[in-house]
Amino acid sequence: MLSLNDRDIRLVAFDADDTLWDNQSLFDTAVEDYCALMSEYGTRDEMYAALYKTECGNMDSLGYGTKAFIISLVENAIRVSDGTIPEDQIIKAIHIGRRILNNPATPLPGVTETLKTLQDRGKYRMVIFTKGDPLEQEAKIERSNLGKFFSDVEVVSNKTPLEYRRLCRHNGIAETQFVMVGNSFKSDIAPVLEMGGNAVLIPFGILWEHERVEEYDHPNLIRLEKFSDLTSVL
Ligand SMILES: [Mg+2]
Repeated sequence: MLSLNDRDIRLVAFDADDTLWDNQSLFDTAVEDYCALMSEYGTRDEMYAALYKTECGNMDSLGYGTKAFIISLVENAIRVSDGTIPEDQIIKAIHIGRRILNNPATPLPGVTETLKTLQDRGKYRMVIFTKGDPLEQEAKIERSNLGKFFSDVEVVSNKTPLEYRRLCRHNGIAETQFVMVGNSFKSDIAPVLEMGGNAVLIPFGILWEHERVEEYDHPNLIRLEKFSDLTSVL
């Protein structure tokens, strides 16, 4: 297996959702509950597609996270019902979205032990680099009890080569001294490879439709099956 041990790595950034803890399954459950709630206005697939379209339409202005998702649930409910949806159903839709905020953020198997091992090696700075809503992401870091392993947390509205370059610059390192660890090829891997960094992909199993993208191999990319495998490449 390719190792990064000979690469003078100074900074390792970790994605949070679906890398450190489960997030996607909560959204998937919420979407299914919402489709069921809206069943009088269309089939499950129609409601699913309509909601996804509304979410994508809101992405540029509202960004990622549960707040944006709740706005999309309400906006979409009004749209697909032509404004006839009763108030109590709107309230139910909001509740479906709000439940996601109770995400226990339980670390995925092996995450806590692996972060401890990597931290003990003391070879590089470790930070969280995540998309989403700052309040929501910080609350999950708190609940996960993983904050102690990271010297910094950055919540950004997007993950493009620009944000990754900025992260390297703020840490005073070259792009080649950077590693990103995450579950999304589109957000955590491709932009990092593009700017000359290293990346470790640990797929979560379920991937949000919006994050699906054509994957490719690269000399700076390592694919792992599980989080604990990180100890053999870093
Ligand atoms: Mg993720």
